[in-house]
Order: sequence, then structure tokens, then C-alpha cells
Amino acid sequence: MRRNYKARHSLPREQIARIVRDLRQKFGVRFTPGFNLIDFVEVHAHRIWGFSVEYFDDDGEFPAYVSIKARKLYISNEIAFRAKLNEEEARFIIAHEIGHMHLHSDDLHFFSGQSNSAFRWASEEAQTEWQADTFAEILLAPDSVVVQYSSIEELSISCVLYQPAMIRTDEPSLAARWP
Ligand SMILES: [Zn+2]
Repeated sequence: MRRNYKARHSLPREQIARIVRDLRQKFGVRFTPGFNLIDFVEVHAHRIWGFSVEYFDDDGEFPAYVSIKARKLYISNEIAFRAKLNEEEARFIIAHEIGHMHLHSDDLHFFSGQSNSAFRWASEEAQTEWQADTFAEILLAPDSVVVQYSSIEELSISCVLYQPAMIRTDEPSLAARWP
């Protein structure tokens, strides 16, 4: 979802990278470049976060979103179809929602009592959308994988990354990984 909030905790990029690494180790989540995100949530969403996955006909508002209250991850049929084909933008959208499940699923009361403008006063690292985007970027391309490639184009192709989102979310650090 793209509705922004001030998160309970400010999370710098390095901390999100640690969280992604811990998630993978703790739950034995295996990473291969280009892993299928639909398979990933079907297997892990309930086990790890207690969320069930539901599919809906696209209504043009959100392609995918989480309901913290209902413990559900909603994915439009169109995005699910595209993600099953490993289409890069669909993968990023689902990875972003995984970020919300992992980082924000205990924040129900916090969000529901928050005015829509609260995030405007928050630093980038304290905004839920930036946190979910950064989580998605690192989940899809952890540093240990990134260092195996010599350019963002090569990395994008091998890891099936959605370049506009990757560059937008992490331009300085992603660009800094290559001389
Ligand atoms: Zn979002």
C-alpha cells in the first residue's frame, strides 16, 4: 500500500538489512536470485506472520495491501499473475507488502490512532513507505548477492529487479556499491 505513516521506530538502512538477514536465518528462508514471490508468501506468510493470502479482482486502487487487523495479505489477481511469471514490478510490489507484514504488523493501534499528516513530520527513515521499500530492495537484492555483480543492469537482470523502484528507494547506497 502507498499510504504513508510515521512508523513506531525509525529504521536506518543498515538496521533493515540486519532484519532481513535475521528473518532469513531464523526461518530458514532460502534466497536464490529471482525467487518466486508468490511461492514465498504462500509458504511463509502464515508460518512467519500469521497472515493468510487472499486474491481479489483489481479495483484500481491498491495492487496489493495488508490488513493488520484481519491478518491478511491481499494481492490483486493481476499482480499475482504477473508475479507468478516473475515479472519485476509485481515482485517489488509483493516484496514491499512483505516489508509491511514484517516491520509493521504489530502497529495496528498505533496506525489507527494516527492522523494522515503525521508522517510529513517524520524523517524518511521513520516513514512506513520508505521502510517497506527499503526492506523490499534488500530482500530482493541482499548485499551478499549484490557484490557478485559488476553493474546495476547485470544485477537487475539476474535478480529480476524492478529498476525504477530500486533506484528510487536506494539511489545513494545502491549506486555507491559500484565505483
Ligand atoms: Zn506500502
